[in-house]
Amino acid sequence: MTLDTPNTPTANDAPRAAGAVGVDGLGCHAGREVMLEAARKTGAGETLARYAKDYPAGPHDQPQSMCPAFGSLRVGLRMRRTATVLSGSACCVYGLTFISHFYGARRSVGYVPFDSETLVTGKLFEDIRESVHNLADPEKVDAVVVINLCVPTASGVPLRLLPREINGVRIIGIDVPGFGVPTHAEAKDVLAGAMLAYARQEAEQGPVQAPRSPRAQEPTITLLGEMFPVDPIQIGGMLKPLGLAVGPVVPTREWRELYGALDCAAVAAIHPHYAASIREFQNAGRPVIGSAPVGVDGTADWLDEVAKVCNVSADKLDAAKAAMLPAIRAALDGAPIKGRITLSGYEGSELIAARLLVESGADLRYVGTATARTPWSERDREWLESKGVEVRFRATMEDDIAAMDEYQPDLAIGTTPVVQAAKSRSIPGLYFTNLISARPLMGAAGAGSVAATLNAAIGNRARFTEMKDFFSGVGEGATGGIWPTTKREVG
Ligand code: SF4
Repeated sequence: MTLDTPNTPTANDAPRAAGAVGVDGLGCHAGREVMLEAARKTGAGETLARYAKDYPAGPHDQPQSMCPAFGSLRVGLRMRRTATVLSGSACCVYGLTFISHFYGARRSVGYVPFDSETLVTGKLFEDIRESVHNLADPEKVDAVVVINLCVPTASGVPLRLLPREINGVRIIGIDVPGFGVPTHAEAKDVLAGAMLAYARQEAEQGPVQAPRSPRAQEPTITLLGEMFPVDPIQIGGMLKPLGLAVGPVVPTREWRELYGALDCAAVAAIHPHYAASIREFQNAGRPVIGSAPVGVDGTADWLDEVAKVCNVSADKLDAAKAAMLPAIRAALDGAPIKGRITLSGYEGSELIAARLLVESGADLRYVGTATARTPWSERDREWLESKGVEVRFRATMEDDIAAMDEYQPDLAIGTTPVVQAAKSRSIPGLYFTNLISARPLMGAAGAGSVAATLNAAIGNRARFTEMKDFFSGVGEGATGGIWPTTKREVG
């Protein structure tokens, strides 16, 4: 059966479906305000207003790293039985497919190409519609995700007019423009939130598919945010003495896990920037707690919060703490981090990683995150500031480099340009995304997991100084291909 019902049509949709407004010349170079204005005029105003509320901007409101749409693309590509299609300029799609395969995507990225004519006549929308119909084979997929990049969003390509469902396959159309979603971390939430909203409506209408593995007998805690696979296991061990179990991690790896995620006792916003997902959980009546069980203080506070929202008795809470905290303390003491550090990143897990570093003994001076301050990051911010750490939300690359110059750390952990800047100053640098956020952080496994890497990097400073001396002047100024004056003509 084909349910050819549009997602959420509005009175103004028909003309736009027939012919998107002619803004095909727009791209990154057009500037944020021009793109925003075009998108508002072509019908994306409501979506952009919601993004502005969910992902508040300022002082840093533009991505300074990868295209934000990568976050949504990654979430789609990591889900079983899900087809993901991009609608955008070929250069954007090239970059996004490149980075998704660099990060190990194991399936194809769909692409519906366009040119000026198909964009302005509305043919692009018809092409997307056709591709969605072609992909919606219930034998192969549970869902088809279509992601509008900058130009189709600004041009008003109305994905909300796509069928909501084709032959039982869910169709999810989302706008993820760089001028409306500040970071790729927040773009993960755009898709996760859209899927949760869809799944919640399904669950409200009747029975839904059971999870692949048997459900836990105990009430569960859903975890919000991508994390190292060992972390949910660690958290499960902490919850057991409380009479609770760990639930699915959102973004999920399969559609049916969304129902299990919604059917929980509480939600742990391990990554605090999942505003749209949190809204869906709150609409489903689920309490949400912030922070994460990192280090001794973090784990004790987090267990207190879980016990409070789940009405767990003081006896059980004491038993859980007695089972976990001494082991975490021993692991932290056994792997101290020695040195002054600045830390920054754009994953949304910077504050909890920072807590772990402080509890490991590091002299941490600064934490910058490209994500926004939210109610769910408040406890981590307060704790870090109470330890004398400067915390900056929506930090720019310039903020991160300025902090490095101010605090003169033994190690700068950050994004690629920050690490580059550190190395050019003979300061050892480590990339946050690959070397810190892709490690266990929770419980006893997290305590000590990063110490060896960080201490080894700190110990490398002499090599950096030696290299800087050796390469001094190479690639700088005129030797970097930049000539301050025009060469004199010879002849
Ligand atoms: S889709 Fe991404 S790469 Fe393309 S213009 Fe927008 S922000 Fe830039």
